[in-house]
Amino acid sequence: MTVQTMLEKLVSFPVLGGESNLEIIHWIKDYIESFGISTTLVPNKENTKASLHCRIGPAVDGGVILSGHTDVVPVKGQPWTTDPFELVDKSDGNLYARGSCDMKGFLACCLTALPDMVEAELKTPIYFAFTYDEEIGCLAAEALIENIKASYSEFPKYAIIGEASMLKPIIGQKSIHIIDITVNGSEGHSSRIKQEVSAVHEAARIVLWAEQKMNDLIDSGSSDERFNPPHSSLHTGMINGGIAPNIIANKATLSLDIRCLPQDDANQLYQDLRDYCKSREKEMQSIFSGFEIEVTENHPIVPSFSTSETSAAVHLISKITGNKEWQTVSYASEAGHFANAGFESIICGPGSIAQAHRADEFISKDQLNKGVEMMYALVKHLETA
Ligand SMILES: [Zn+2]
Repeated sequence: MTVQTMLEKLVSFPVLGGESNLEIIHWIKDYIESFGISTTLVPNKENTKASLHCRIGPAVDGGVILSGHTDVVPVKGQPWTTDPFELVDKSDGNLYARGSCDMKGFLACCLTALPDMVEAELKTPIYFAFTYDEEIGCLAAEALIENIKASYSEFPKYAIIGEASMLKPIIGQKSIHIIDITVNGSEGHSSRIKQEVSAVHEAARIVLWAEQKMNDLIDSGSSDERFNPPHSSLHTGMINGGIAPNIIANKATLSLDIRCLPQDDANQLYQDLRDYCKSREKEMQSIFSGFEIEVTENHPIVPSFSTSETSAAVHLISKITGNKEWQTVSYASEAGHFANAGFESIICGPGSIAQAHRADEFISKDQLNKGVEMMYALVKHLETA
């Protein structure tokens, strides 16, 4: 199968983050197994979704995990000019479809090179690690990684996460955490502001607390110039509350987006936020006993990662792609989960992130072909390494 035919097949499965991916994962499983490779599915509790992993090559330490996700972001409300779940070749050098770039293009490169991987005399193995629900918070990566660790007696050394990077190595990513907060205050006439607890006022305090926390981190000197901005960011992107200027608001909601440098502790920040909300609760309950601040995670923390510019992973990527310049990003990926599990992790995949998540998403044929070449180069490298 050519890489374009493979991509055509993969994009025809309209699997949005959160939805069942069983059809596509079973298709991939059958395809891989037709080459005599056994696969393992790692299902969710309800058995409605599954990740997949497999090993190609000998059971020895030092192998390379190729990581990708099978889900895509929604298309509803976007001005698509073609059917998003049909690969369209507009003869302009690009292939259009949802997921063409993020990241079924990478999956297509892996699967297209599979026959060569199987035939090669690999000295160290290649693993495929394909997940679901990446686009709604990288929800399946941890369970898949645990299963990989339990399934193989050997330990893979590298994890290449094939997110779109124009095949340039990405060596760092901030953590990402979205937090939803509901403030439950008491209602009343605006003149009674000292006898009631305004949810809007308390929500505003949280906004300012988060901003102050960010400034404190900056003032403390926590900075990493590889990132833009070079500091952790705490941002309130949504706030809602109140029904009239002369009514004290009994409800307000807000959502925070926290992106942490690898050196800052995202878990601690979350704890600090919860502690602050608890302390406000305690204080305000003396005025209104029902006062409550509910703090919930929109999704668990997508961990940051940082791989050294001089690491073996960077050498490996430059060897198999020819690209030596590295970069850092602030979008979410599964790289942090793989890094936390002890694999030298790096993001490197075909296509540009600028094309991801938008109407008329595309990948250039040039990038797609270069992605396959990267796989062939990896095979060649592992025949000698
Ligand atoms: Zn992606």
